[in-house]
Amino acid sequence: MTRHYTLMTSLALAFTLGTTSRSAEAAHPTCSQSFAVTNVRVFDGDKVLVKATVLVVDDEIAAVGPNVKIPQGTPTIDGAGATLMPGMLDSHAHAWQRGDLERAAQFGVTTEFDMWSDLGFIQAMTAEQESTGAPDRADVFSAIHPATVTEGYPYNWTPDVIESPTVDSPQGAKKFVKDRIKEGANHLKIMLEDGTLTGPPIPVLSDATIAALTKEARKRGMLSMAHITKQAPAFSAVGNGVDGLVHVFVDELATAQFVKLAVAKGIFVVGTLGAEESFITTDGGAAIIADPDLGPYLTELEKEYLLFPAPPSVLTLENLQIAQDNVLALHDAGVPILAGTDLATHGVSIHRDLELLVDAGLTPTQALVAATSAPADAFGFGDRGRIAPGLRADLVLVDGDPTTDILATRAIRKIWKLGVEVERALP
Ligand SMILES: [Zn+2]
Repeated sequence: MTRHYTLMTSLALAFTLGTTSRSAEAAHPTCSQSFAVTNVRVFDGDKVLVKATVLVVDDEIAAVGPNVKIPQGTPTIDGAGATLMPGMLDSHAHAWQRGDLERAAQFGVTTEFDMWSDLGFIQAMTAEQESTGAPDRADVFSAIHPATVTEGYPYNWTPDVIESPTVDSPQGAKKFVKDRIKEGANHLKIMLEDGTLTGPPIPVLSDATIAALTKEARKRGMLSMAHITKQAPAFSAVGNGVDGLVHVFVDELATAQFVKLAVAKGIFVVGTLGAEESFITTDGGAAIIADPDLGPYLTELEKEYLLFPAPPSVLTLENLQIAQDNVLALHDAGVPILAGTDLATHGVSIHRDLELLVDAGLTPTQALVAATSAPADAFGFGDRGRIAPGLRADLVLVDGDPTTDILATRAIRKIWKLGVEVERALP
């Protein structure tokens, strides 16, 4: 976990610097971000506190519980009838511009784990996060360039992407992983898409190369995770050492043998059910637009994306049901399930993903875990994903109770990142 420690050290440094300016701010209480939410139901990332107070001092959660002492002069928000939950983590995103991360934050996603992006963009975002905390947008941690073979996915359909490093043999694994770490990648993404789910076959990484990549990543303290859409490559990925799968496969029901292997290897799985739905039908997108809590906040372009028909494929609603059944089978066996959008509609689509997780058979609380503490644990980020003293004040206040009705995550009253309120403008 060398890379994470490096990152955490920089964050710790940022907090230290924040503390220095905190004393300066004491002379200007109007600049202070300290506040308390009282009388509120709290979903702390693991469990529910029926009625509590959460005290935020500057960028951190300072106290949580039924008997929190609020310092005199601290502004309070009455949270009666509402639920305070951690800012959400999207475990499968692709951010290409700052606006994507701003939109994520405006719908309650304060961290994105990115699975393929542009090097210069990610480096600029990382530098900004480490210096200012970027309170008006989601944090992003990216794989940057995914591991794939020459003429393999995803570059087979993006010939215009100039920077497309590939790895064609186990001997190339060491350099490939080293280069990603040098670029500032947070995790290694391994593409295992042979194209046959939707069309003619394309070249794909060999088992030996997958094994060499995961071994090299682990040696350097980096998590590795695979894109798969079918069960056969999922077997190959997990058998060859990935820490997680960033989709659930849609081609067939998980066999008992696969579930057993997933449990034995201790992997996590990102459902991306909303993305899978969007490959089959635009009904999910239409439902988001029709939602009275989400629709009004959408831009025309986002509505267009949500209603954009998927390219013709062999996938049907039966495949979505298979994906949902697989999520439930893995979850019931104890495999951590993470929420992830994998869509251009940043932030808003996490709410549909949560709904589909509940539709798959998770309880609303288990779905919330998939977007909060489970991804924090899976990616090794102990500073977020929960509401506890000392953690980042990344918070979402919603009307109602999402731990019993998952649609309540959409009724957003306020969002904070690092204790700073995120503005939500109607377009
Ligand atoms: Zn993706």
